[in-house]
Amino acid sequence: MLMPILEHEHRDALQLAMSHLVHEGSFAALFEAAVDAIVIADDRGIIERVNASCERMFGYKRGELVGRNVSVLMHEATGEQHDDYLLRYGAGGAPQVIGRGRQDVARRSDGSEFPLHLSVSEFTAEGKTWYVGMIRDISDLVAAERRRDELIHELRASREQFRLAATRDALTGLANRTQFLDDLDRSIGGAVPAGAELAVAFIDLDRFKLINDTQGHDAGDELLREVGRRLVGTARPDDVVARLAGDEFVVLLCGEMSRASLTAELDRILEALSVPITLPGGVVNLTVSIGAALYPADAREPEQLIRAADIAMYMAKREGGSSVRVHSAEMTEYLSRRDMIERELRAAIAADGLEVHYQPIVRLSDWSVRHVEALVRWHHPVHGAFSPADWIPIAEETGLISAVGAFVRQQSLTDLQSWDALGRPPMRVAVNISPLEFRGRNLAQSILEQIERSGLQPARLLVELTESALGDAAREIVDDLHVLRAAGIETAIDDFGTGHSALSHIASLPADVLKIDRSFVKPLPGDAGSRAIVEGIVMLAHRLGLEIVAEGVETTQQADYLTEIGCDFGQGFFFARPMSSDQLVGWLERVEELAA
Ligand code: C2E
Ligand code: CA
Ligand code: CA
Repeated sequence: MLMPILEHEHRDALQLAMSHLVHEGSFAALFEAAVDAIVIADDRGIIERVNASCERMFGYKRGELVGRNVSVLMHEATGEQHDDYLLRYGAGGAPQVIGRGRQDVARRSDGSEFPLHLSVSEFTAEGKTWYVGMIRDISDLVAAERRRDELIHELRASREQFRLAATRDALTGLANRTQFLDDLDRSIGGAVPAGAELAVAFIDLDRFKLINDTQGHDAGDELLREVGRRLVGTARPDDVVARLAGDEFVVLLCGEMSRASLTAELDRILEALSVPITLPGGVVNLTVSIGAALYPADAREPEQLIRAADIAMYMAKREGGSSVRVHSAEMTEYLSRRDMIERELRAAIAADGLEVHYQPIVRLSDWSVRHVEALVRWHHPVHGAFSPADWIPIAEETGLISAVGAFVRQQSLTDLQSWDALGRPPMRVAVNISPLEFRGRNLAQSILEQIERSGLQPARLLVELTESALGDAAREIVDDLHVLRAAGIETAIDDFGTGHSALSHIASLPADVLKIDRSFVKPLPGDAGSRAIVEGIVMLAHRLGLEIVAEGVETTQQADYLTEIGCDFGQGFFFARPMSSDQLVGWLERVEELAA
């Protein structure tokens, strides 16, 4: 590409040039017009003649070059080589091309350097030997080559990046889902002959969304990176740690494993992640839920194995977080049952399949009834009268609880209106609210709107919430209860005594009524311990201006005893079972007749 002249043509041209050298004829013009720099030196390398291109290329006047060694034109390092070159080939007789395509570095008069392409020919005539060097500045070519190399390098780098993006999680640098599935697949392939088991641990951060929302996304990202680092820190050499998505991590645990040793392994991970993490916004006491599944006992396919571990994680999360569970067949059974109930419940809600029953709450001093509790009823096609205690938790898990709650409140308001229309003295209805109904929505506001649309006084409704719902992390619930109470809706603490808050905690609860759980009422009046507890609660609650309802009153003795100790209300089968709106009206009329 550089020297388009063919080798022998080149030689002929030189011969021609040389033969004219002595005579200085038209050759001079040709010599000067050459684009390449031409240097003619004797057999010792002393320059005899250069052309105009050489002057331009090297920045010398020809007078400055003639008489000097050709090495003046070369980079120091290559100058010597050049001499060697000449020495080695310098003794030849006939004109010959002794060098072509040498690529070297040339040096200009100002010391700057450029890459050159040099071809040297030896020419002997009349007993004298010359060396003719033709020099081309190949800076452009070298630059182009360098650029091409850079491009190739960039291409390689981006191809590598591409490969990483396809297999790595960008945030944590861990393997991503694709890579993890690949690794899992490979491990399963290798694990079968060895007979060794392997396990997948599924790790989900508890309340990550809350941290992300309150501390910001940068803090959330940092938290995820730290979790990744800790997981890698606890992993053994063959384990694979990956982030599947969001705050979900998985670890492939390799090697021999039993359910017992797996649980120990999971505990170790749980512990490593439970060390407080310092973020710019403060220290986070992270907890995680971990589930694991064993190959081949729990599943044989990679996706199924992850799914089985996910189910176990879900069961761990249901325990309230910060726990580990190993997959079992019952878990899958539970979930398929749950899925079925969810589908049926959704259909029941859509088809008006739910009903509300009411259980009277009786004032013990005069047996008057101004107040009932609304209890939802679902006549299940298979399970028949299906206790809400069995399906409310599923409604809570699946989010259907909001629809259930809204329905119960709406039906209660409608029934209140129908009782009013009968000219009955105004009743009040207590509705149960699940803590999960507060999640992510303005529950107080929507309750108040429901009441406003009904045209009834807000005080006609009460809300019942369990003591555990008002635990430590329930700020938004407490705020909502204050809003409801300010609007005139009383609140009752349900199942009181079953939570683990101290009695003194009652003082700080935004409540008007305490409902003593039926587990304390059941042993009454015989059991001294229960008597002490119930009497203590009644006394304390009264001091604090709260009213008391005793739940689960089933016997005359219980009713008498509760009346005696000053408990305000009783509720239970002794007085009445929960019943439909129509049945309730009939029941109330009979009670009123008896009282008259
Ligand atoms: P809860 O709020 O403690 O409701 C009282 C439960 O005790 C009712 O069970 C009632 O039928 C039962 N009960 C009443 N008197 C007696 C008695 O003398 N002895 C015994 N052994 N039990 C008695 P139910 O209707 O099966 O409801 C169970 C739970 O389901 C309720 O407990 C409540 O936590 C929940 N629930 C019911 N309806 C709703 C609702 O509309 N929304 C929400 N979120 N939860 C509800
Ligand atoms: Ca209740
Ligand atoms: Ca209760």
